[in-house]
Amino acid sequence: MSETSSVAVPNVHQGEPIPDAARAAIDALMQSGDLFRYTAPQDAPVSLLETEFAELLGAKYALAVSSCSAALFLSLKALDLPRDARVLIPGFTFAAVPSSVVHADCVPVLCEVGENYRINMEDFAAKLEDDIAAVIISHMRGHTSDMDAIMVLCDAKGIPVIEDAAHSLGTTWHGRNIGTIGKIGCFSFQSYKMLNAGEGGILVTNDADLVARTVIMSGAYEHNWQKHKPARGDNGTALEEAFARWQNLLPLYNLRMSNLSAAVIRPQIPELARRVADGLKNHDYVADRLNQHAHFHVPAPLAPERRAPDSIQFNLVDLDDAQIDAFAAATAARGVKVQIFGRSTDNARAFWNWRFLKDLPDLPETRAMLMKACDVRLPVRLTRTELDVIVEILVNSVEETLALAAA
Ligand SMILES: *Cc1c(COP(=O)(O)O)cnc(C)c1O
Repeated sequence: MSETSSVAVPNVHQGEPIPDAARAAIDALMQSGDLFRYTAPQDAPVSLLETEFAELLGAKYALAVSSCSAALFLSLKALDLPRDARVLIPGFTFAAVPSSVVHADCVPVLCEVGENYRINMEDFAAKLEDDIAAVIISHMRGHTSDMDAIMVLCDAKGIPVIEDAAHSLGTTWHGRNIGTIGKIGCFSFQSYKMLNAGEGGILVTNDADLVARTVIMSGAYEHNWQKHKPARGDNGTALEEAFARWQNLLPLYNLRMSNLSAAVIRPQIPELARRVADGLKNHDYVADRLNQHAHFHVPAPLAPERRAPDSIQFNLVDLDDAQIDAFAAATAARGVKVQIFGRSTDNARAFWNWRFLKDLPDLPETRAMLMKACDVRLPVRLTRTELDVIVEILVNSVEETLALAAA
């Protein structure tokens, strides 16, 4: 196969432009200096974002914060777990997830993840028996684990589920939005996610006490909570009563979002459906082409899952360690950097690098997956021709690697 040399290798780290509509809102904020979310009596950009986001997902309440990591931390704090409570998390996730557990004075318990990047349900069920107080399901790279089985197991034991949906905005499960299945769903606005503010996060829930607790701890000091309103499904009474219950009883961590971030995010919301559709179309096109090659395997989604990908993950098949490294080097030389989670130095998604944890377990199944799972960003703006360039680079790189081995 010859490379499409007339088309430049696309820059997979360049995102979508921020819509022009953000400029007017930012300009108004620059004029007024009104960057703090609680200065305006109502309708601050952060408050409007919360209402719009909750409505988008079909949740009663939303709280915008400084990052998804902050949202995860506040979610754990809102559950009021005792010190050293055990929180079950997948062994394949971003280091922010075990970090949020440590930050909340809890102990992360890691479970195995299979070669389709989804939680191994047998290991999950077994570890759930071991004194688990809460669960964080991290939909890593937007891959959804079996939420039906997870909710049945956790509901039976009354164990709360937090969804780390940082990279899953727009994904559905049986048509239901990911992030609204567990008790709380957390999302990220970091630049590599579907909505980009550089930094930022938001949580959604239907539980008035949980949202009241997170609002206060996020930094709604004194009566600033009065500026938080339900988006739907509560005339305001349930939320007000919850705030009254928690007034002055919780520490403040000040993890608020600034109006500037909200002004950058809000005009992107109307673009989400288009981004999700383009991302899925691009992903599935590349997946089909890679799956035609004997040495690549893109695992299929689970049946109830409709994905919203902005990257692709695939496993290398029948390559030894030296060939895997040669493949990674060959792709980099051609301008498309493939990250193999377990083989790049200090990778934050390889559990053995979470050395801030005591008693790091061995997870042989997760480790085996990480040692051959490749990660390539596929920004949703890429054209078919640009996708072809990426596929050809991947295919040519693996064939060069195999030819070297045969020589
Ligand atoms: C990006 C990401 C996070 C962290 O989000 P921040 O907003 O950067 O804190 C957590 N979990 C997953 C799965 C992510 O993709």
